[in-house]
Amino acid sequence: MTIHIPFDNSYAALPEGFYSRTLPTPVAAPSLIAVNRELAAILKIDLPKDDTELARTFSGNVVPEGAAPLAQLYAGHQFGQFNPQLGDGRAILLGETIGQDGVRRDIQLKGSGPTPYSRRGDGRAWLGPVLREYVVSEAMHALGVPTTRALAAVRTGEDVIRETMLPGAVLTRVAASHIRVGTFQIFAARRDGAALEQLYDYTVQRHYPDATDPGDLLQKVIDRQATLVAHWLSLGFIHGVMNTDNCTLSGETIDYGPCAFMDAYDPQTVFSSIDRFGRYGYTSQADMIVWNMAQLATALLPLMPDPEAAVEQFTEQVHAMPALIQSEYERRFAAKIGISDPRPGDKELVTDLLTRMHANSADFTNTFRALSDGTARDQFTDPAAFDAWATGWKSRLGDEPDPQALMRRTNPAVIPRNHRMEQMIAAAVAGDDAPFHRLNAVLAHPFADNPEAEDLRRPPTPSEVVPATFCG
Ligand code: AMP
Ligand code: MG
Ligand code: MG
Repeated sequence: MTIHIPFDNSYAALPEGFYSRTLPTPVAAPSLIAVNRELAAILKIDLPKDDTELARTFSGNVVPEGAAPLAQLYAGHQFGQFNPQLGDGRAILLGETIGQDGVRRDIQLKGSGPTPYSRRGDGRAWLGPVLREYVVSEAMHALGVPTTRALAAVRTGEDVIRETMLPGAVLTRVAASHIRVGTFQIFAARRDGAALEQLYDYTVQRHYPDATDPGDLLQKVIDRQATLVAHWLSLGFIHGVMNTDNCTLSGETIDYGPCAFMDAYDPQTVFSSIDRFGRYGYTSQADMIVWNMAQLATALLPLMPDPEAAVEQFTEQVHAMPALIQSEYERRFAAKIGISDPRPGDKELVTDLLTRMHANSADFTNTFRALSDGTARDQFTDPAAFDAWATGWKSRLGDEPDPQALMRRTNPAVIPRNHRMEQMIAAAVAGDDAPFHRLNAVLAHPFADNPEAEDLRRPPTPSEVVPATFCG
């Protein structure tokens, strides 16, 4: 019995120059780690009970009927350097379904073997990054952040060679689409106006049916990305690799590599081992998304009837983005301290709290959560520093209808903390998937008080601190 997936493929109907038709490379001994039944239902996939069949499909060993497997072509700025040709080096798009909600989504295998774009890579993924992406993308979804999701994770039964031999795995990723800023960039760089036009039409139809022209598309993407990055900042999330090939037109978070949530608040936080200059550090994200949108603007310019004349307009749109991010940021952080309708002075109240948190090594997530239960001062090395701030805050809250409720649905109790992720991965490498399943179960309800999960809320002890994260 094979799995029935009601494919309705549109990317595969684009011209051959957009991708390479590529089949997954079968693996030795696939075994299922997890399948996301709730998401499968949304996608209208009827899952069999049988794990063997699920493992065969979500490892790529069996290609389901109706799939049109392909590796997508794109370019991208990686740490500011333009790479004129990237593409899915270890991912294969199986196809799309139109879900119960009428939304078209991609189903993609990641770690499914080499493609024509693999360069020197092996086309594989090891277990650690697969489980990390599974947990973090699903946690982000539960936190309300637009994101790709995880449909399945499978062990391959093969080792991959990294610094050492590590167990291989395949992730099945679901996305509103995999159209990236880099997808536009590749055709713009090649001066392939026809392909650029086709990609534009496709993107508008799929994501922004009411976009009136390329400038309007640019604006709509800027709006979504501004909201997205402000949302990340409000959760202490650091993506880690905001290259233009990891930046979607849909406005979803994509490509969870060395990403992490910060523990103690420090605006300079950087985790990624490859981000040596802090280009994609916590605060820099607000600048880097503007930089990425400038690259998108550049790639969209040739689509305008008079590109020269459009430069000024596009430049203005990009230059207006920091103010959009700032106002989203202010709105979200106001909500974090219980303010539903920000007014002058509230921004300073937030900044003052953050400054004190930084000086006191206060835990970002736990401090905000504790605002609604009256224990926030305990998060400060000098609790008096909190008390001094809280006087003004409490008087401001007098004008708010229900600050407690607002804070409790804005400030999560639990996030995927880095040290828990590392411990979960170490356990899975040793064959114990229980911590992985537990993290998924708890993180599905991040705003709930869960007495059973207090240990997952605790910041790392000094010996648990994870100083750096890796791409895998
Ligand atoms: P990322 O930093 O994960 O977005 O990857 C950047 C590029 O490198 C993408 O084109 C990936 O497909 C490719 N890539 C990453 N890891 C591998 C691998 N193990 N084998 C082949 N290509 C890879
Ligand atoms: Mg990528
Ligand atoms: Mg510092």
